[in-house]
Amino acid sequence: MKASRVSIVALLAMSLGASLFVALDDTLVGDPSSSTAPGANILAGEDVRTFALACVPIPQGSGTPSAIADCVKDTFVAAGDDFGVAGEVFTSAAKRDPFFADACHLGAHEAGRALALRMDPADALSISSSVCSSGLVHGIFDALGETSPDFATWDELASVCEDLRRREPASCADGMGHAAWDVTGDVASAEELCLTFTEYSARSECAEGVQMQRYAPATERAGRPRDERPLDVAEICRIEADPSILDGCRHGIGWLLANDIAALADSLDALRGAVPVGARRPLAEQFANAAAACSTLFDGEAACSHRLLTAVPVALYLDRPTRDALCSSAQTISVRCREIATAYAGS
Ligand SMILES: [Zn+2]
Repeated sequence: MKASRVSIVALLAMSLGASLFVALDDTLVGDPSSSTAPGANILAGEDVRTFALACVPIPQGSGTPSAIADCVKDTFVAAGDDFGVAGEVFTSAAKRDPFFADACHLGAHEAGRALALRMDPADALSISSSVCSSGLVHGIFDALGETSPDFATWDELASVCEDLRRREPASCADGMGHAAWDVTGDVASAEELCLTFTEYSARSECAEGVQMQRYAPATERAGRPRDERPLDVAEICRIEADPSILDGCRHGIGWLLANDIAALADSLDALRGAVPVGARRPLAEQFANAAAACSTLFDGEAACSHRLLTAVPVALYLDRPTRDALCSSAQTISVRCREIATAYAGS
């Protein structure tokens, strides 16, 4: 009965054809932290689909990120332990709409956090997925970062994460890096935890996550203030670290530089639809500076600029004149820039 009430609300909203955010009534969904067993309060697949569809704004690009994120979170919570149906709806919407994709990621973070609060973190990770750019996975590690896990927990998480990564492109290794920084607050100790992984690529992604969390945490709920980033990015990585860790750290620098570009783009209102003409030049200048910063890393230049190019907001590549302005501004990487931008933009 609960489920049918929700469906009616959702269907009603859809039939009105307005912006389709259905704020789920807390009394209908229930409090996940009070569940006595995983799976309590879950909805059937078709109801989850209705919930999920109601989170996708029409027209594309409309709505507010917080409303989309809340709706995504509520849908995942209502789905219990099976994220397949919601994941299908959100994945296809995120492919069409980068704006939705960002909000979906934030909502999934919150859902992952709720999941980790009601079950063992390794169990939560094992039923998780890469949906919404691994937001669920990241949320589990957000929650973990606020606790003091023992080594056995890190070890188990690393092993579950490596299994998950073999199945799908889940970014759990970088999530573990985020949590490792929050728990330790010390680069060498956090990177030591990254060495719990057996695979080079997982270690490297974990080390990148350490730098992301150190300098640009998505949330600062754990109460650890961000570190002050040195002006000279060459001072960031420990060159004596394991090669996998050093490689990941240099990717992390590229990500941080791209994150600066994303922040500038956001302030110039360049992330939704067409990029304002006046925004192209400042974005191109910042991009050129970022490429120059990567080039100061010598043998780390390739890792840094690769991550810079893959982490620049896709919206900037989708706008053809902006893509051209960015790629021609940084001559040392303009060829790679065009290749990667074209691949990301799909044409
Ligand atoms: Zn995230």
